[in-house]
Amino acid sequence: MGKYAIVFGYWSNIKYSVHVLVGALESYRSFEEVRVFLSSLDEIPKLIETLIGKYDRIAYFQTLLTTDLPSTYSKLIQLNKRLKSLNVTSVGGGPHATGDPYGTILSLNFNYAFVGEVEDSLNELLGLLFHGGDPTEVRGLAWFEGGRIRLNGRGQVKDLDRFPPFAPIHRLFNPIELTRGCIYACKYCQVSYAFTANLRHRSVENVIKWSNYMFERGIKDLRFISPDVLSYGALGKEVNFSKLLELFEGLSKVREKGAKVYLGSFPSEVRPEKVSEDIASTLRRYVDNDRIAIGAQTGSDSLLKAIGRGHTSEDVLNSVEALTKHGFKVDVDYIFGLPGETDEDVQATLNHISRVLKLGGKAHVHTFIPLPGTPYALAEPGRISPEVKKKLLKLVGEGKAYGNWLRQEKLANEIKKLREVGVILITPKRAYDLLSLKGFQVM
Ligand code: SF4
Repeated sequence: MGKYAIVFGYWSNIKYSVHVLVGALESYRSFEEVRVFLSSLDEIPKLIETLIGKYDRIAYFQTLLTTDLPSTYSKLIQLNKRLKSLNVTSVGGGPHATGDPYGTILSLNFNYAFVGEVEDSLNELLGLLFHGGDPTEVRGLAWFEGGRIRLNGRGQVKDLDRFPPFAPIHRLFNPIELTRGCIYACKYCQVSYAFTANLRHRSVENVIKWSNYMFERGIKDLRFISPDVLSYGALGKEVNFSKLLELFEGLSKVREKGAKVYLGSFPSEVRPEKVSEDIASTLRRYVDNDRIAIGAQTGSDSLLKAIGRGHTSEDVLNSVEALTKHGFKVDVDYIFGLPGETDEDVQATLNHISRVLKLGGKAHVHTFIPLPGTPYALAEPGRISPEVKKKLLKLVGEGKAYGNWLRQEKLANEIKKLREVGVILITPKRAYDLLSLKGFQVM
């Protein structure tokens, strides 16, 4: 038994991030002293009470997604209050904590927020959690001190190969992350803001090593995580075709043993402007999935420009055509209710969906959610008019569209309410207004 216990809040939306963290922990020498526990939010208080007395120190780490907050925030606030009284240190990390370290500490009651990617800072973080080290030594940490929130930069992993893509010792498997970061910085998406625009790729050797590892343990369906499969090996917006081929060739050796390779469908997708006939036929040769996911987001070119997508509506149609020609079924993502969306934009999107359907594609429909850390963090929640909903529901009935847009519309409103009541703070000004209200001498 280890001397220290770390409890991770664990549920389906965040399980991959937890596996990656546990995998990173496994690769540190100090891991021998640490026992890992995974628990649902509801079970954490009971679990921690059973650990008290058995371990020298206990810490709680929670990956936070903004979209989980409406159903978890009141439990998190209560839990963190209770943990403080038990002298258990809590850390909130992940995209929400990165986008809103102020709310994570001041409103959700975590002792610390972690900003950015945690793996490289983990050793120092464990030192802090278990030995009461110096927070200024942990890159990426945010904490409350002297009437203000202090931030120690942002955590970033320079070399993905240094850490396993999952937790092999604990046998917690998940798709292998190929690429981290995204250069496009679309204004509604947390990826570039949480992981920066600095592209980092797991090497081909490393991807193959872990693919074989999974295959040898009975996982025959190999999936991969990437914001854009076609950015693999690239430094910028270019397609590094030779590196992609190297990856595909490497993976085909694992395929020859009987594995199936799923790439370009969830949880990885493909940028439309990068799809050429060559790319479509190459993908067809090397992947086992029949479906490819393409991001369009809107059919309006002016809105595409405003949200910073970096491609045109025509690029999407061309990609659907090329991929369909090479035997793929294409799912095209659309977001309704984006900031600044006009009635003309909505009509352009509906027209675009019709053209995609004629080409044989299917629409994957979303509602815009304002997410902390993005330029649209304080925007109004997305809304879909009753007439458009009716049209979309008809498409669903015909098997031409799918998606969680109704649930997302509700979620977007709930997130706005959390902003209004100060659970989500986002900006230093909003944080310091709250501190002043609580009677702190704000610095
Ligand atoms: S939507 Fe896709 S391309 Fe745009 S920033 Fe997010 S991950 Fe990158």
